[in-house]
Amino acid sequence: MRRLLGVIGDPVAHSLSPYIHNHWLRENEIDAVYAALEVKSGELAAALTSLLNHGAAGLNVTLPHKEDALRLASSVGDTARRIGAANTLVRTPAGEWRAENTDAPGFALTLDYGDIAVEGRDVFLLGAGGAARAVADVLTRRGARLTLCNRTIARAEALALDLAPAARILSLDEGLKQLPKAAVVINTLSLGHAGGVLELPASAGGIFYDISYGKGAAASLAEASRKGWRTLDGLGMLVAQAALSFELWFGITPDLAAAHARARTLLEAVQ
Ligand code: NDP
Repeated sequence: MRRLLGVIGDPVAHSLSPYIHNHWLRENEIDAVYAALEVKSGELAAALTSLLNHGAAGLNVTLPHKEDALRLASSVGDTARRIGAANTLVRTPAGEWRAENTDAPGFALTLDYGDIAVEGRDVFLLGAGGAARAVADVLTRRGARLTLCNRTIARAEALALDLAPAARILSLDEGLKQLPKAAVVINTLSLGHAGGVLELPASAGGIFYDISYGKGAAASLAEASRKGWRTLDGLGMLVAQAALSFELWFGITPDLAAAHARARTLLEAVQ
């Protein structure tokens, strides 16, 4: 029987994940299909049970379900537990869901591929939402001197308490003023999706890594380039977290560079 995989979220129609995963399924001659499945807030538990009953082999989970997926899974991997969110569900041999997080190791891979050293360096993390938690976990474990900047200070404080106890905390406005001190900036703010743009100070060659991609990142990346930052978008992280999910489901490691190039071509074609 053809197996089902997919990404569940809301909204989810824009997701590049079906394109990425269906290519790998074909390439590895796996009889399965990966679909974008719109699941509304409050409907996750029913959807997960129904997908198990219909033989689903694995799922990715995106907004707004990452925390609920962790709570509803029968077992939870160490990284997902530490971060408090799951972006991957793996069907176990007993027919239950195990929750994993590949956002964090996916982000770590992009630091390696991009040759971005963070140990002992000043790294400013903009944002304190779900994605920032995965990023903060990696940066803390790699020994970055971390400054957390967020509009809602209480959310940054909660993040620091859980995952980055040594981090300095600033309001977003103050963080932006002090940004020239940063060797590396990781932007996890979602405001670009709503047409917002960050006003950035000038940099003499610091790195501005926006984990969004496509239209959601275009304006902030253009502003960063104008102000002298070296820029990177989140497409590599998307592909890396997808590859790590694929590996959890099938034990196969896809070719990251080739997948990144294909995804870039697609993104440029649809923009
Ligand atoms: P959340 O909704 O959990 O967090 C959003 C963050 O953006 C919060 O820090 C929020 O601040 C801030 N924010 C939103 N609007 C504004 C605004 N107008 N002004 C200032 N701050 C604002 O989202 P996620 O953390 O899950 O995702 C964040 C981004 O990362 C998204 O763009 C998503 O697409 C991207 N992402 C990319 C991935 C990849 O693989 N490349 C993986 C996961 C996410 P506050 O706390 O004050 O509300």
